[in-house]
Amino acid sequence: MANVGLSLNDSVQDMLMLFNGEWPQEWLSKYPLFHNINLPMIHNGTDQIHWRTNEGVLFTYSTTCVWDSIRPTGNNISWFSVVWFSQCIPRHAFLLWLVMGERLKTHDKMKPWETHSSMSLICPFCKNCPDSHDHLFFDCPFAAGVWARCRSFLDVPLGSHWKDVVRVISPVASRNCVNLVVTKVMFAATIYFVWQERNNRIFKKSHRTEVKLFEDIYATVRLKLLSITFKNSPKVDRVKNRWRL
Ligand SMILES: [Zn+2]
Repeated sequence: MANVGLSLNDSVQDMLMLFNGEWPQEWLSKYPLFHNINLPMIHNGTDQIHWRTNEGVLFTYSTTCVWDSIRPTGNNISWFSVVWFSQCIPRHAFLLWLVMGERLKTHDKMKPWETHSSMSLICPFCKNCPDSHDHLFFDCPFAAGVWARCRSFLDVPLGSHWKDVVRVISPVASRNCVNLVVTKVMFAATIYFVWQERNNRIFKKSHRTEVKLFEDIYATVRLKLLSITFKNSPKVDRVKNRWRL
């Protein structure tokens, strides 16, 4: 074996000196490519570890750069920072992520395969039509009322439909501005509580009023804001006054 006599502390130069000027036969038979490569000569070199990406870019080795070069990557998601940010409430963010893909099991999705179900496929808030992502967030008069109350506590002008809100916030969502942080926390909390209330009414037969639901959202958001350290500024002072922080 070519590596007989080497230890973990030996360098590449130490290994090459053992080769006596030619690649080991075992390597040549296993990797014929070495026939086309001259044995390098290294004098007084210290070993350095690098990583070459598929694109040929050479980096100083780190697990981060290796992971970034081998992991599968997709297109950038414009709304990513609306959902995921350091101050988010994880369970709210997870539900909002499902909403972004319209993956909640709303009535419009259940209708084709629940024809024999005894479950009433009608919005538990307004009882006018089956619910859907668009109806719950926030075309439904009940949900619209809750969102209107929540919106009045935000300094960012937003639409009344969830897709409008995402469209307005997305381009600036990655900024760490106090008003945006409050807006994103409030938006995700409203989505979460409306969905929770919808399920409570359907499956637990419990019932909160529009005002009570808003109060629960307000209390949750305020508690979250109390845990965040903001740098002092006139904007932050206004937020603190408004939220009694
Ligand atoms: Zn409704």
